[in-house]
Amino acid sequence: MSRYVYSFGDGKADGSAEMKALLGGKGAGLAEMTNLGLPVPPGFTITTEVCGLFFRDDGWPEGLQEEIDVALETLEGRLDKRLGDHDRPLLVSVRSGAAVSMPGMMDTVLNLGLNDTTAAGLAELSGDARFAWDSYRRFVTMYGDVVLGIHYTRFARAEEDFCGDRTVRDLSIDELKELVERLKQVIADAGSAFPTDPKEQLSHAIDAVFNSYNTHRARYYRKTHGIPETAGTAVSVQAMVFGNMGGDSGTGVGFTRNPKSGENGVFGEWLPNAQGEDVVAGIRTPHPISQAAKGEGISLEQALPDTYEALGDMMRRLEAHYHDMQDIEFTISQGTLYLLQTRTGKRTAMAAVRIAVDMVGEGLIDEEQALSRIQPKSLEMMLRPVISPSAKKKVIAHGLDASPGAACGRVVFHSAEVQEYFDRDEPTVLVRVETSPEDIQGMTVAQGILTARGGQTSHAAVVARGMGKPCVVGCTELHVDYSRELFYAGDTVVRKGDWITIDGGTGEVMEGQVDMLSADTEGGAMDKLLGWADARARLQVRANADTGVDAARARGLGAMGIGLCRTEHMFFQPDALRAMRRMILADDPQSRQRALQDVLPIQREMFVELFEAMDGLPVTIRLLDPPLHEFLPNRDEDVSDIAKELGIRVDALHARLEALEEANPMLGHRGVRVGITTPEVYRMQVRAIFEAAYEVHRDGKEVHPEVMIPLVAMPEELHRMREEVVQTAETVIGEYGGGPSYHIGTMIELPRAALLAGEIAKYADFFSFGTNDLTQMTYGFSRDDMGKFFPDYQRLGLLPDSPLAVFDVQGVGQLVQIGTERGRAANPRLKVGVCGEHGGDPTGIGFFHQVGLDYVSCSPYRVPVARLAAAHAALGLL
Ligand code: PEP
Ligand code: MG
Repeated sequence: MSRYVYSFGDGKADGSAEMKALLGGKGAGLAEMTNLGLPVPPGFTITTEVCGLFFRDDGWPEGLQEEIDVALETLEGRLDKRLGDHDRPLLVSVRSGAAVSMPGMMDTVLNLGLNDTTAAGLAELSGDARFAWDSYRRFVTMYGDVVLGIHYTRFARAEEDFCGDRTVRDLSIDELKELVERLKQVIADAGSAFPTDPKEQLSHAIDAVFNSYNTHRARYYRKTHGIPETAGTAVSVQAMVFGNMGGDSGTGVGFTRNPKSGENGVFGEWLPNAQGEDVVAGIRTPHPISQAAKGEGISLEQALPDTYEALGDMMRRLEAHYHDMQDIEFTISQGTLYLLQTRTGKRTAMAAVRIAVDMVGEGLIDEEQALSRIQPKSLEMMLRPVISPSAKKKVIAHGLDASPGAACGRVVFHSAEVQEYFDRDEPTVLVRVETSPEDIQGMTVAQGILTARGGQTSHAAVVARGMGKPCVVGCTELHVDYSRELFYAGDTVVRKGDWITIDGGTGEVMEGQVDMLSADTEGGAMDKLLGWADARARLQVRANADTGVDAARARGLGAMGIGLCRTEHMFFQPDALRAMRRMILADDPQSRQRALQDVLPIQREMFVELFEAMDGLPVTIRLLDPPLHEFLPNRDEDVSDIAKELGIRVDALHARLEALEEANPMLGHRGVRVGITTPEVYRMQVRAIFEAAYEVHRDGKEVHPEVMIPLVAMPEELHRMREEVVQTAETVIGEYGGGPSYHIGTMIELPRAALLAGEIAKYADFFSFGTNDLTQMTYGFSRDDMGKFFPDYQRLGLLPDSPLAVFDVQGVGQLVQIGTERGRAANPRLKVGVCGEHGGDPTGIGFFHQVGLDYVSCSPYRVPVARLAAAHAALGLL
């Protein structure tokens, strides 16, 4: 028979950290801390297994009640207190705790066990009537909200009406008692009843916590974080310790290292004379724990120095024990410190890297553990934009710097509206007094989040950091008026739809759109980590770059060459575009040649930049790929302008445009087909490549050009193109009296090419899988039109992710594998890589490693992601 309940307390627990799946993160942490001899109030944990049975059978499994009764009796015995007893009343908290933490998603009930009798008893026992009735007040509201489902704003309103101009702290004891009655009336008015029997309170509270696992917001969180639905939550029932018992009491949340920067040392916030929910809910702005930290109010270090010391010691012990940064909750009750939770702390990408690297230095973990702790994708977040130092900005308010990075968007006050803006491709900043779990969906799609209240550990701050989203919280200068859809910041009025910029690294809120810069990532912890990654990776990482600037940036981020230069991007420069248009519209070979002669120097200059930036490394240059009409105008006014510019008649231009029009350009006259039918275009490009190569080579740099032919479907296409390329290359080398050695290869982006790879490989020195086209051609949908049906497919669960973003191992993967095997069998020296978007996608990288590819190539900012993913693949972590 299963065991459903595990006790902890008095330095000994039935469970341990290893039992996280069964006891949830919180339950396992409480057990482990108990075993370590740390001060944990006693209690018991009901397992995650019960959660599954609860939903399956719509009630408690047989035997649970008896186990709870026994655990409760043990708890009562340990404390010599009894639930419902007047003289020595036991109060408990009932808290959720899933195996994978879902911060702020599920419910908690505190101060359970209070009724008129026990509240009076508590007042006598503690000698503090205010504390007793204040706890009762909190309990009635929490029970009404969480267990009975009456929205907390109804209690808040009743409280406001009752207090008038005063706050709860100003009420007399009799008034507090009256307020409790008023709050009970809110419950009665809603048609519910407040149970006076604490055992009844307990069983309903346990049910409520289980039910909170299944709310819309919790399910959405699990879906977006890939947490299985069946995992369930545990419920921990624990003796209350009170942070609201005067000036030497309080409650707080602390991290063993700074969760934003990773800096070593206690970081966190506390609130004197308060209970836990006050910190998390962001109702009062908390004070810092350490004196050195920025923030308002008296630090814990200053207020209770001995407690501060003790807390620091315990936190260091926990970190050393878990070998990772911990996020803890504590309560100080009349000078006595208790730990209520420990878990691995959430952190920004930047902090994660710094902590992992520092911990290797401190001997807490080894290099491979450090690598395994960083999600490759998270490195992209480190490359988030920052406000340009030279930007003109008007700061209208300051808040707390909750999650770094700058964000700019239109002001929106409601989450549902954020989605509407998002659907129209309009960036937003979600502005709220405070966020709650209902806002998750809006937070997911907003560029940034700004709240008027709350601290570094408020809902908004924690969730935004997890998402890697810029966020400013506790911006008390903001007065948000939801009904008029505006906020005031001093004299400035900002309305819905107005642009603002926030800086989550400084806490600044700025008017309008402020200039941003890409993040500077050179040097430091990331470089060290990626050095360890390179030492273990087998796949090399190159970059897709079309300009000298991009190439230099990619090299700075560790790219070992260029895997794809899309030459067409160069043609969009005004001079090149004009010449290109003349070439496409030319009626006779002579004028076509003249136009190409004008494009040649522009191309050559751009290749020079690329070769210089990549001195010593390979540069793969793809010859023209898109259909020619992409270079021509499609709006009437542009047509007449261009006709004038080129000196041709408007109707003649229209006629030519019509002739070039295609019903399905993705499957049309593009790629090598242009090379076959208009060979002079490719000849010009190859000449530009080798002239540039000669020039850079002559200047003492090492040049390794690789010429790549796109969209090949037939071996014969490549055969002909190879001969063309060799002929032009040798001509140029002959004319200049020298030049570098070079390679000629092809993209594999059509299913037929993958299947005939053995034949194609006879004419190729390398293959580069163009997995963007290969995916669209394998699925048979167009990259451009996918948006029309993909959201429905995703909603219906047919496709969890776009196969253009996350590699389709099952289908397209087969073609990559077949293409590689057949290609290598025919040409053992064939080099094989990938240059589609999946070159920076960890799922794809895991597969490409397995299939034995030589390299991946991705956009410059994803180079660090790919380097780490390549190491993860080699370590078997993908
Ligand atoms: C590809 O198809 O994967 C590719 C890299 O080429 P493009 O995206 O330019 O079509
Ligand atoms: Mg392609």
